[in-house]
Amino acid sequence: MTDGSLPSPDSFTAQATAAGAAAAKILSPQQVFTAEWVRRKCQYGCGCYGKRLTCPPYSPTLEETRRMLDEYNTAILIHSPSAQERLRELVVDLEREAFLSGYYKAFALGAGPCHRCKVCHVEQGCRHPGAARPAMEACGIDVFRTVRTAGFPIEVVRDRDCPQNYYALLLLD
Ligand code: SF4
Repeated sequence: MTDGSLPSPDSFTAQATAAGAAAAKILSPQQVFTAEWVRRKCQYGCGCYGKRLTCPPYSPTLEETRRMLDEYNTAILIHSPSAQERLRELVVDLEREAFLSGYYKAFALGAGPCHRCKVCHVEQGCRHPGAARPAMEACGIDVFRTVRTAGFPIEVVRDRDCPQNYYALLLLD
């Protein structure tokens, strides 16, 4: 847009599905729930804890995330049944589109640890800061509660035959 007006958030839900997402939905950031237990699941249960810059303890804390969410008016929840790396690329592309269109605070959150590099450069700093974004859960967002409240599917994955559902979030303002 060249006249200073912003594109509708609906245009980004349409772009998300056109790029391969199963669905995308506009939420209020107050419908994005944070919870203390989430990062404990990263710390005691995930082999990427402390090994990826997109993961705890490097990712934003629960308190930082809540404060950040409360600085936005719009969030877009994006659903993909597969491929968390592709979903991260998709939401980062949307973040860039939104930023360039005038949403100067646009910020993307992905799903799962970043595996763009074989070994994450935790000491030296990220090699691809334009592409790496933390997952929602890495920032203390209760993805299960957020997703179910939004009416999207998510279940505990018990084995490789279970349906998989990944989610990313685009914050807009
Ligand atoms: S892009 Fe590479 S260095 Fe950056 S967080 Fe991902 S794996 Fe780590």
